[in-house]
Amino acid sequence: MHEVIVVGAGPAGSAAATVLARAGRDVLLVDHTEFPRDKPCGDGMSPMVTTELEKLCVWDAVRAANFRIMHSVRYVSPNEHIIEALESRENEGRSFVAPRTRFDHILKEHATASGATFHLAHVTAPIVENGRVQGVVARKDQVEQELRAPVVIVADGNNSVLATTLRKQKHPPIHTVLAIKAYVRTTKEQPHSILLHFLKEVLPGYAWIFPVSSDLVNVGVGTTMVRNRQLRRPLRAILDDFLQLPYVREQFGEATMVTKPQAWMLNLACMDFSRVFPGAILVGDAGAFINSATGAGVASALTTGRLAGEVTHAALHSKAMLDEGLRDFDQRWKQELESRFNQACLVRRLFLGRTWPINWFIERSHHHPHLRRILAEWIIRFS
Ligand SMILES: Cc1cc2nc3c(=O)[nH]c(=O)nc-3n(C[C@H](O)[C@H](O)[C@H](O)COP(=O)(O)OP(=O)(O)OC[C@H]3O[C@@H](n4cnc5c(N)ncnc54)[C@H](O)[C@@H]3O)c2cc1C
Repeated sequence: MHEVIVVGAGPAGSAAATVLARAGRDVLLVDHTEFPRDKPCGDGMSPMVTTELEKLCVWDAVRAANFRIMHSVRYVSPNEHIIEALESRENEGRSFVAPRTRFDHILKEHATASGATFHLAHVTAPIVENGRVQGVVARKDQVEQELRAPVVIVADGNNSVLATTLRKQKHPPIHTVLAIKAYVRTTKEQPHSILLHFLKEVLPGYAWIFPVSSDLVNVGVGTTMVRNRQLRRPLRAILDDFLQLPYVREQFGEATMVTKPQAWMLNLACMDFSRVFPGAILVGDAGAFINSATGAGVASALTTGRLAGEVTHAALHSKAMLDEGLRDFDQRWKQELESRFNQACLVRRLFLGRTWPINWFIERSHHHPHLRRILAEWIIRFS
């Protein structure tokens, strides 16, 4: 019996486990994959991520890994107008591109160094007794085991078995994105700049180029499930064509895809539902905390993991009122994230679904520095 079980050692789970372990709680961090492990992602980390890493006291370790710092964002409109928005001075050095294999390993190691116990096992179901979650059923070396704790923090990502069981439904396709990504080796030196191309075919989605190092880029394309069903060809073909665009070829020189493209789903934060169940809290992708304008989720995974850790630590002080205490989580995440999520949903619906507003805004930004500043802030606000 532990005080808390955290399922999933990605950014959300590692953040929750770190907070709880640092507060002296007995926390078991369960993941079915040995670390380091990869997670399909664009690898783009905004200043919001950095702020969370500072709160978790892991920023020094991340900075020491020398991930590639970004200084600007280049936006490409559907009619291929390109503008560059420079990062503001106060955010200098706080945006970077970090391959998840290394980034997540640092976070997970920080959680265990803080006192969390890592347990390698595949979680298959919650243990629900008397209407509340009392632990999880897990499989290790083909042997089923019961792991028990009065609180379970559910951080097992987008395909969460536990979240689906507790919510009694999957996230609806209208608020789900399908994205595909790969790593490409280039012969030309890459800029310290990420690029988003609002390709007409995939709106309200986009294609991206995020440089991981001087000659390696993370490239991908994503769109909503609804739009994906209307497409006449697979995302892979759209990604291949994107890589052949003249300005992309110019940036890359000779390009070699060094990994097989991986497809993955993203659950957007566009629905109001409680992330708290008696004995359990959903965080990160398992709780559908992905920003719907950008598809970014690492910052909110860290925020919701941290908040779940804080709320759980406080709730454990009063065993009689435990579930009451856990309910604070819904209030806390709303205070920190809800207005941003609502704005992002509005931007996606009103702005990103059609070509003309994006063409208009990006063309205009060419001559108006204050519009470029809005674009620089945009990527931060919605990350
Ligand atoms: C193609 C793509 C591009 C993206 N690009 C960006 C980007 O550039 N920037 C950004 O901020 N966000 C991006 N995102 C979103 C980001 O990847 C997620 O929001 C983030 O990984 C969420 O972290 P998490 O800890 O909630 O879940 P995850 O990182 O998915 O971690 C979940 C963990 O749970 C474990 N697990 C799963 N099931 C079980 C089980 N049954 N038993 C035990 N363990 C289990 C997994 O092994 C994993 O370690 C992107 C997503 C995709 C798909």
